[in-house]
Amino acid sequence: MSAPRLEIDLDKIQHNARTLVDRLSGRGITVTAVMKASLGSPEIARAVLDAGVSMIGDSRMENIEAMNRAGVKAPMMLIRSPMISDAQRVVRYADLSLNSEVDVIGKLSDAARAAGKRHGVVLMVELGDLREGIMPADLEHSVSQVLDMPNIDLKGIGANLACHCGVAPGTDNMAKLSALADAVERAFGITLGIVSGGNSANLNWAFSGTDTGRINNLRLGESILLGCEPLHRQRIEGLHADAITLIAEVIESKTKPSQPWGEIAQAAFGEKAPPADRGNINQAILAIGQQDVDPGGLLAPLGIEIIGASSDHLIVDCGHRRLPVGTEIRFQLNYSAMVRSMTSPFVSKVLRASGKPIPVPAVAHTLPQTQGIMP
Ligand SMILES: *Cc1c(COP(=O)(O)O)cnc(C)c1O
Repeated sequence: MSAPRLEIDLDKIQHNARTLVDRLSGRGITVTAVMKASLGSPEIARAVLDAGVSMIGDSRMENIEAMNRAGVKAPMMLIRSPMISDAQRVVRYADLSLNSEVDVIGKLSDAARAAGKRHGVVLMVELGDLREGIMPADLEHSVSQVLDMPNIDLKGIGANLACHCGVAPGTDNMAKLSALADAVERAFGITLGIVSGGNSANLNWAFSGTDTGRINNLRLGESILLGCEPLHRQRIEGLHADAITLIAEVIESKTKPSQPWGEIAQAAFGEKAPPADRGNINQAILAIGQQDVDPGGLLAPLGIEIIGASSDHLIVDCGHRRLPVGTEIRFQLNYSAMVRSMTSPFVSKVLRASGKPIPVPAVAHTLPQTQGIMP
């Protein structure tokens, strides 16, 4: 089989999704499965929908369109504030979107009216992580403007933490979101169907036994795909952390000194020479590099240590072993490594269900091509 490749086990992903859906339903929380890290793979989307997730979320319109084209039937939520330049495709392909700019929502309303449609909006509130969100003091003003827009349905409010400054979701900020939901409902005499508390970083809070208040939805990506919670990068009990693995192939295997020689300047990616002289080592080079993966996010098998990477070479110390050229090495990935490998056109994607490869491309769309030279 060709290398490098990502092997994606749909059964394990489905198990992860089903386990999270079941545990959270006991707390009155539904799951929006976030597909952005898998480039909107329709097969993965179907696997998580069969597991009971109530909605599909993605940050990129290309992915949402690909899932639409592939016939994935589910409510689609755009989870990044839409670009105004995308307003028409957003109302065409997404049922609802997370928003924090009233001007953008105005354009969505115009586009929806032109298309004879309605578009759902969840207003994002800033709770301290300083990425997207309306400041809490401005929320009611924004709500009043949105309620005046003819083709927009205000579906709810939401928040996102732990993505920019690492602010952890917890009792205080989640109680604040619940209180804001209550206040908006009282002030306008409306019902907010969705109170979307955050992402995989909310799971520790959700499972801690604390009162989850009005929060009735989480948007989960990493925990479904990697079985891991992002705050402390701990495996979640009962979930598979190896649903997605990366395989790369050895292209050089030699005994070499552990120390370089010659005058030392900068390496291609600014790496420093290895600090300790370990004498001669069994070194191997694998045909994968920075362009295909975040090497810092790879976990090598026992006995193999990653010692460097350039654009297309990954250099490992194989310890006592010699790895013949052609040997395949299997790595576990963290989120950063997984996202980059999923996005690299040089890494093939092999989906497996019931242990067997399924003969479909994991990526249903090609990324936009260069559109000529700007004047
Ligand atoms: C990426 C993203 C998510 C999913 O985050 P995970 O940590 O992968 O669960 C949820 N909400 C928003 C707004 C996102 O951008």
